[in-house]
Amino acid sequence: MAFAYAPAPESRAVVDIAPSYGLFIDGEFREAAGGKVFKTLNPASEEVLSEVAHGSAEDVDRAVTAARKAFEKWSALPGSERAKYLFRIARIVQERSRELAVLETLDNGKPIKETRDADLPLVAAHFFYYAGWADKLDHAGFGPNPRPLGVAGQVIPWNFPLLMLAWKIAPALAAGNTVVLKPAETTPLSALFFADICRQAGLPKGVVNIVTGDGATGAALVAHEGIDKVAFTGSTAVGKQIARTVAGSDKKLTLELGGKGANIVFDDAPVDQAVEGIVNGIFFNQGQVCCAGSRLLVQESVHDELMAALRRRLSTLRLGDPLDKNTDIGAINSAEQLARITELADSGEAEGAERWSPSCELPSSGYWFAPTVFTNVTQAHRIAREEIFGPVLSVLTFRTPGEAVAKANNSQYGLSAGIWTEKGSRMLAVASKLRAGVVWANTFNKFDPASPFGGFKESGFGREGGRHGLEAYLDV
Ligand code: NAD
Repeated sequence: MAFAYAPAPESRAVVDIAPSYGLFIDGEFREAAGGKVFKTLNPASEEVLSEVAHGSAEDVDRAVTAARKAFEKWSALPGSERAKYLFRIARIVQERSRELAVLETLDNGKPIKETRDADLPLVAAHFFYYAGWADKLDHAGFGPNPRPLGVAGQVIPWNFPLLMLAWKIAPALAAGNTVVLKPAETTPLSALFFADICRQAGLPKGVVNIVTGDGATGAALVAHEGIDKVAFTGSTAVGKQIARTVAGSDKKLTLELGGKGANIVFDDAPVDQAVEGIVNGIFFNQGQVCCAGSRLLVQESVHDELMAALRRRLSTLRLGDPLDKNTDIGAINSAEQLARITELADSGEAEGAERWSPSCELPSSGYWFAPTVFTNVTQAHRIAREEIFGPVLSVLTFRTPGEAVAKANNSQYGLSAGIWTEKGSRMLAVASKLRAGVVWANTFNKFDPASPFGGFKESGFGREGGRHGLEAYLDV
């Protein structure tokens, strides 16, 4: 049945989106120098949600100046005082989580059950977790006198707008840094709502500054001489550019980049459980996840059985209105991203892989891509090598654990992997050989603020989360 985009009015009503938003600098919302703006859309309907200030190099400079000024006092506060602000922010995020979940779903296109049950609880958890560190820095073995770095310039992507913000801002603030954060151009709204939460929490002016804009705004931030640390999450191509910009300066750098995660299923894995893990691994957030399990490596003897079960399960997924709590597959975030996914999926067919999607009708407006599975994939195919960042699974087979490891590691990326087997010894042996920053055992896409996250190879360097995530914002 064709889908008509008609968000339930009562759910839409919990969030009040203003027709325009300014930059958040030194505790105030203000217009961009020059007054430039850009529009942010609901990708499920192409409806304009709001107009947002487009920050220039001059705005970045103002924000960095405000952050620098705020740093003196913020870094001198006892950790227990900084903790109070972070706890307050965490609690306000919880109190406003319904509003923020709807907002994030509208601006990003992801299903409400994900923003409600995953993004928002994890955002609050990050602030609670790092609040707990703020008054313990002197006693945590970082050295005799761990100091904050100064002003952090942080650039984030659109796939988990508020969660990536939390990964960046919570540890930075706990460690005594101040920040200037640049959200992605297609999802600026939740960061601006977060600015409002900072005000609500009474956070001193200038400690958090949000400069919305595009890649040029991000580039101006990264290049600014007044920042001491660059934290970037986004594509490998942009990460490389940033590394070149920062090279030779005394700025500290962490990069969280792309991935091509392998989900490895052995013949003894419980099929139904593995199928759930595969679906979660590649269709969560429409596959627009850096650590997505986008390559499925199946032991040859169970290939047919597993594929049949996977196809049955995919036929039950519901694609449509992201605000409907029963929706499993929401919209793709932008027309550009949809074009990128389409191009790569078409290359899979052109290169000889076999394409399959459950029958589903796509809505006539907005950006949509049906869940897609490619079998008969070889390691030479582009869909086996390049990050698609969409709901497209490439299936390869293997015979032995050694072959599984070799295929999993045959990638420019090294961010995530999953292993499905009942044999503990095999689990440990395979996990230890995988060149991936995170390896999940009989599960996928599990996150915890206490657990460090980050990549090997072209997936970047540095870790976010846990004690390591804090260390990245300290001079020790
Ligand atoms: P992107 O690199 O195009 O953009 C990311 C951010 O960088 C945006 O805010 C953008 O405006 C900004 N930007 C663009 N050009 C810039 C420049 N020259 N200098 C500074 N900033 C610049 O990536 P995207 O398309 O928004 O996000 C998708 C990518 O992010 C995927 O490759 C994905 O794997 C990666 N990602 C990685 C992680 C991780 O933790 N490793 C998490 C989420 C997303």
